[in-house]
Amino acid sequence: MAADPARRLRRYQEMRDFGRTAEPSGGTAAAADGHRFVVQRHRARRLHYDFRLELDGVLVSWAVPKGPTLDPKARRLAVHVEDHPIEYAGFEGVIPRGEYGGGDVIVWDRGVWRPVEADPARAIEAGTLHFDLDGEKLAGRFVLVRSGRGEKDQWFLLHKQDEHAQPGWDAEDHPRSVTTGRTNEEVAAAPGARWHGDRPAAEAEEPVGGWAAPTDDELAALDALGAKGRWSVAGRELALTNLDKVLFPAAGDGRAVTKRDLIRYYATAGPVMLPYLAGRPLNTHRFPQGVTEPGFWQKELPRHAPDWLTTWRNERAEPGEARRYVVADSVATLAWLANYGALELHAWTSRAADVDHPTWVLFDIDPGPETTFEEVLELARLHRTALEHLGLTGRPKVTGQRGVQVWVPIAPHCTFEQTRAWAETVSRTIGRVLPDLVSWAWTKDKRRGRARLDYTQNVLNKTLVAPYSVRPRPGAPVSVPLEWAELDDPRLTPDRWTIRDVPARLADRGDPFAVLLGLEQKLPGL
Ligand code: MN
Repeated sequence: MAADPARRLRRYQEMRDFGRTAEPSGGTAAAADGHRFVVQRHRARRLHYDFRLELDGVLVSWAVPKGPTLDPKARRLAVHVEDHPIEYAGFEGVIPRGEYGGGDVIVWDRGVWRPVEADPARAIEAGTLHFDLDGEKLAGRFVLVRSGRGEKDQWFLLHKQDEHAQPGWDAEDHPRSVTTGRTNEEVAAAPGARWHGDRPAAEAEEPVGGWAAPTDDELAALDALGAKGRWSVAGRELALTNLDKVLFPAAGDGRAVTKRDLIRYYATAGPVMLPYLAGRPLNTHRFPQGVTEPGFWQKELPRHAPDWLTTWRNERAEPGEARRYVVADSVATLAWLANYGALELHAWTSRAADVDHPTWVLFDIDPGPETTFEEVLELARLHRTALEHLGLTGRPKVTGQRGVQVWVPIAPHCTFEQTRAWAETVSRTIGRVLPDLVSWAWTKDKRRGRARLDYTQNVLNKTLVAPYSVRPRPGAPVSVPLEWAELDDPRLTPDRWTIRDVPARLADRGDPFAVLLGLEQKLPGL
């Protein structure tokens, strides 16, 4: 093997376009002392684990489809692939689709390795390398051995029988990053940083995509405005009006909520909310006089809307139907909507680019007057069990009113007729488990106070309240996504969080729905 890293990285560099991929290009980092190793879990066209040993200024690499194991009886196929630059050892993020290796990468394990052979480069050339690993997941004596037959690049990775050996040990049972604690799904949902390989490693990280919350200066400027004025946020100047108007009377904490409070909330929560809104037509529930007056639905873009708003034109609109919709895709848009009295935001479950194929299947547990919240929770847990049984990932959210919804992300591969029929089958199965709690009657008076499992929202232009949308109730409660385990928290109520405490919850716990973003699940047959 050539010892010159620049020459050895040529193949790696030829295979990538560093204008498009976030991977490091190599050639900028000094070789570190000692022998580092890293294992990256890489969801590309096929899932594999990249097993990399630092040697002579590069990462000598093997792709291990099933991942390394501590099981001394297992023998893992390991395909010898091109050397990678040292900086790649810390790379965790997304490689753009269409690029070589497109997908997401986490740092699955890392540590140091010690070769048994005196000249490991020569040992690799000869086709057998013994070494000890001291990582966070992997430890003990391993062997890489070139397969005697077939492809020259085919090797096997084995663990020796030693005190670190564990029969049956499977990498897939240990799915989290050792650097950030995240899964590949979580990294794909929020890559966080992009790596520019053409810059020095220390300057290579840059926030990816996404939206920035308003700065402290921008928020201070909002607070400093009188009843109206011009506010600059996210590069736009907005004309705000009636900022001290009370939109929500006080609830528990005795503080009324003004339009200024609402604008501040939507701008602040925007970076977390916008992934659920961007690219989708938006229906808004407006209460320009506040929630003590009746509100109304607005879908049509108003004539006075600023021309920088992203909009979508429904070419199939019937006479009398909305033709031009707002698409909320910036913090400024959310602030504009709040100023416009659009309290409640409902994005479509399909994207504007492909409105006939939803990317969410929704279950709405709609309590009747006799339904207790404990019963709502019982029904929600049955949804969890059903989804687990079907191998699907979903999450619950409280509505901010009385109910709980379950959101399941899917690839846009089904029509609404198909998702609705699928959801109905799941709902009816759940309903049979607790028949006393559930009614299938369409009208409220026939339901005798029981809950409805409403699968009928899975229809074009029918929507549920968006994650983190405010609800039109005193105190400004918010529809908040949850972890499943939070259903068992005795403090949980459907209207537990308001615009006053959601920002702290987000800072503290993050967004439980983030794991759903970018998950393109296929609905299994039932
Ligand atoms: Mn890979």
